[in-house]
Amino acid sequence: PPGLPGPEGATPAMAQWFAAKAAHPDALVFFRMGDFFELFFADAVTAGEALGLAVSHRGEHQGRPVPMAGVPVHAMEAYLARLIRRGFRVAICEQMESPEAAKARRAPAVRREVVRVVTPATVTEEALLEGARPSWLLALAPDGAGRVGAAWLDVSTGQVCTECLGVAEMGALLARLEPAEVLAPESLAAGDALTPLGGTVREAAPPRDGARLAAEAWGVAGLAAFGSFTEGEAAALAMALDYVRATSGGTLPRLAPPECRGGENTLRMDAATRRSLEILRAERGGKDCLMGAVDRTLTAAGARELAARLATPLAEAGPIAARHDAVSFLLAADAVRGGLREALRGAPDMARALGRLSVERFFPRDLAALRDGLLRAEAMREAIGGASGVPPIPPLLLSAAEALVPDASPRAELSRALAAELPARLEDGGVVGPGYDGELDALRRLRDDARGAILALQMDLAQAWGVASLKIRHHQQLGFLAEVPAAAGETLLRAKPEPGPMAPVHRQSMANAHRFTCGALSDLDRRLSQARDEAARREAAVVRHLRGLCLEAAPGIAHAARAAAEIDVHAASAELAAGGGWCRPDIPERPEFCIAQGRHPVVEAALRRNRGPAFVPNDADLSPGRRLCLLTGPNMAGKSTYLRQNALMVVLAQAGLFVPAESARIGLVDRLFSRVGTADDIAGGRSTFMVEMSETAAVLNQAGPRSFVVLDEVGRGTATWDGLAIAWAVLEALHDRLRSRTLFATHFHELTALAGKLPELAPAAMKVREHRGQVVFQHLVGAGASERSWGLHVARLAGVPREVVGRAEVVLASLEERARGLEPLSGELPLFAGTAARGTAPPAGAEDPVLAALEALDPDSMAPREALEALYRLKTLL
Ligand code: ADP
Repeated sequence: PPGLPGPEGATPAMAQWFAAKAAHPDALVFFRMGDFFELFFADAVTAGEALGLAVSHRGEHQGRPVPMAGVPVHAMEAYLARLIRRGFRVAICEQMESPEAAKARRAPAVRREVVRVVTPATVTEEALLEGARPSWLLALAPDGAGRVGAAWLDVSTGQVCTECLGVAEMGALLARLEPAEVLAPESLAAGDALTPLGGTVREAAPPRDGARLAAEAWGVAGLAAFGSFTEGEAAALAMALDYVRATSGGTLPRLAPPECRGGENTLRMDAATRRSLEILRAERGGKDCLMGAVDRTLTAAGARELAARLATPLAEAGPIAARHDAVSFLLAADAVRGGLREALRGAPDMARALGRLSVERFFPRDLAALRDGLLRAEAMREAIGGASGVPPIPPLLLSAAEALVPDASPRAELSRALAAELPARLEDGGVVGPGYDGELDALRRLRDDARGAILALQMDLAQAWGVASLKIRHHQQLGFLAEVPAAAGETLLRAKPEPGPMAPVHRQSMANAHRFTCGALSDLDRRLSQARDEAARREAAVVRHLRGLCLEAAPGIAHAARAAAEIDVHAASAELAAGGGWCRPDIPERPEFCIAQGRHPVVEAALRRNRGPAFVPNDADLSPGRRLCLLTGPNMAGKSTYLRQNALMVVLAQAGLFVPAESARIGLVDRLFSRVGTADDIAGGRSTFMVEMSETAAVLNQAGPRSFVVLDEVGRGTATWDGLAIAWAVLEALHDRLRSRTLFATHFHELTALAGKLPELAPAAMKVREHRGQVVFQHLVGAGASERSWGLHVARLAGVPREVVGRAEVVLASLEERARGLEPLSGELPLFAGTAARGTAPPAGAEDPVLAALEALDPDSMAPREALEALYRLKTLL
């Protein structure tokens, strides 16, 4: 790293530091020195700034003082958490032997090694993880045939997934997973999709023989044992494994078999759609998201599962119905739901405890988490088993109940072994309770006996030395010493003691006391420390045995944890529905969409929280024959709320939840597009209109007859006439060519003229009325177009002088005149292929440069971006 002096002339310990730094130049090196982790040179300054630590100096290197900052070992987690959150990586350089051992082998310094590199995606500590979110490490490997293999894994839970996708779908995947770290070869890392992720992206090269490497990691002959993986997926898997290994000192955590995802069985949503719908997080300005409004789960693992379902809803009727069956059942069976939720409340996070056990970075409470979690799981199974049998228990719940209790459960063993009160750390001792291991009990008795013997010796020595106030104390380095007041000490020092086990031997003088030892005391000291060491060693062996039991049972425990999380989600969805106003959606294969009295769960909750007016429910009907709804209405009338609420119905329904409506029939959706209020949020150097158009282009290039599209104010980002023209053409394309179910909100009233031309277009408007001179938004969607002079109406109500409003009316009338004149032309705007008949261009001279340029364009061969650029070029010709 720049600015760092060379290692020449370093002390032995500093030479170790230089070696660690050279191996991990992009990480801050936490260098263990006794009870502290020290940072040196630039690391000290950087960490000092980031953590608010004082930077001091330690010795000199090449004639200059060495900057140093340190954090106490016991408080390291909190410091690590802050550094990781701020995007740093930390290499932990540990002492690998005791100072005594180093001395014994005459080494100039204690041996130290980097045992781990802490990075955002490879942490397992509770303090460093977000309970309700997975912590994905995503690896991407292009397969050379235009596709990308993706593999993502969560070290903290051992979950592993892969997917093969098109390069263009990478943005959607990133938006869906929100990975903590991404590994990609340079070609991808520098590309448009990954650049915005900044420091979370690391360059890594996909290996050639990924399939073999990955199969080896799982101990199988070939990956085919787990499904069919493409070469790219296998390479990505190997990249991720390699990275985890490199950051955790060469070992791999326990990993579940990789699951092959993707294909046609999930609802596709791109990044813009996710932003617009605020599914897992609120965007700038908002504070509530869908997850926040519908989450009634009781465990962190349940919350992660719910978030995963909302982020990746299904697109197959059968599995969706199976989830709805589970929710329906639990909604009706109050007692079962109550029993399950009681068992879930406060249940520990088994998956992550297991993860920590597997990487050997665990705490006593992780063992307790498995004991308690498995006990809770047993209670959950009983709760399901207690169901009356009428109606029958749905298959998803049955199979989950089955998985809740693993065949080889370490639960009973853990219950017998663990102490009632557990220490925070394994080193503190007392993890294993009495009565579990005879040998440990015997060693502890010996230890306690020795303690008792020391107390007895204190009395004997007091008598023998004639010092009533004699106290035996423990000293860190010197062991047990008998302490006597200064005067009595002086007497003992002068006396000529009789040799023997009780003869005082002076060890230490202090201002007002002297400390002695004697043969008997040293003996006892040795016995006690031996007994203590042996008890600790034995306890460590018992803990290792318990850990081994848990790891042997790990697949079963992981299944139980997963089952508990799924049941948490089903019970939570039922709980939500039990509050009233939620219904089970019907999911036919036909592209229908019919909602009665639907609501926006997030807006509704916000209104309720702020004691605002009640949310006004609205119907929606995009059934065949009226699949395109053109919604008009003034600002603030509730258009975007209505658009989003219907898109959210699709997400909720296909995620397997109930929906906020009286009834809902939602024909299976393959792709969901939402373009509501997003374009303004992204700056990124492109003009708002450019962003709006490329997002619109993405819809037009991908939507189809099974898709669901909500579009807000297409064309608002440009001048009225080309905005209107574009909106018009987009509407036509959606109607004639893409045939998606569409909600299209606009302030271009002129578009309602299309109602007569497009048979499947149904106009609707937000109702607004006047009440005592005030404008009242009713938030009600009604059939037909909205009153067009509404803006003037508001102007009048707001007190704009009568003559100004009058003048505006005249201008409006003349504009309308012009609009009517343009209508026949705009009906044939050749902006998008497939809708307008070409060759019916207005009779203008062929020498017109605009027309010539237009003529030269071949829309079918142009990328959306090129088309836009062409559009801009055309505009400059006007
Ligand atoms: P628009 O998109 O037409 O400008 P919004 O959808 O943003 O309007 O709605 C504006 C505000 O009106 C929302 O923040 C919300 O408080 C309120 N609102 C919208 N729809 C409803 C509804 N159905 N019931 C009650 N209040 C609503």
